[in-house]
Amino acid sequence: MQSDDIRNRLVKFFAKDDPAVTMMATQGHFATSQSHINYYIDITRIKVRVSEAIEAAKSLRQKLVHHVTTVDTVVCLDGTEVLGGFLAHEMEKGDFRMNNAHETIYVVQPEENSIHQFMFRENIRPSIEGKYVLVLVATMTTGETVKKAIECIEYYGGKVQGVAAIFSTKNEVDGQPVYSLFNEDDLPGYATYNQHDCPYCAKQIPIEAMVNGYGYSKL
Ligand SMILES: [Zn+2]
Repeated sequence: MQSDDIRNRLVKFFAKDDPAVTMMATQGHFATSQSHINYYIDITRIKVRVSEAIEAAKSLRQKLVHHVTTVDTVVCLDGTEVLGGFLAHEMEKGDFRMNNAHETIYVVQPEENSIHQFMFRENIRPSIEGKYVLVLVATMTTGETVKKAIECIEYYGGKVQGVAAIFSTKNEVDGQPVYSLFNEDDLPGYATYNQHDCPYCAKQIPIEAMVNGYGYSKL
């Protein structure tokens, strides 16, 4: 098997407010659907390992408490359902209100249709319609995907209360506050570029991989 040089290069970064929470990242020349970027951020472990997800959930809860007061539903993007489940569990321990009759938080994910629009089917809609919704995303750079998700939730009658992210370069998207464990200050020299205005492309440095909130695919 060919060794994966991206995986081998990954370096650990510790969250400023909570050293128990870590993410991996490496520098290079990468492309997202919206931009080119000089870091690949890997948060797979927070998404797939229970102990890391619990630490991240506790830390996110601290960021959200007293800012977001009511949460009925967590809408998970980028494969963050495991983290979303633990985050909901942490929020149910206190300091957050739930407006639904069952006093428990719903954890759902939107479906993406064939033209990459988000949608919720009939069976999931009761957890969105009239509900107070927190959006959970892995990484947010341009914010376009989160904006699409917010529009979708509002279309189905949900009341978005904010966005929780593992990594985000923005404090706000579509008028919603963003609460993140990591931001670009944690990654020295982090930059995103318009694909027509990318200094790596200008130097004809090849793109190593396509990246999104799920991970990377080498080119
Ligand atoms: Zn480029």
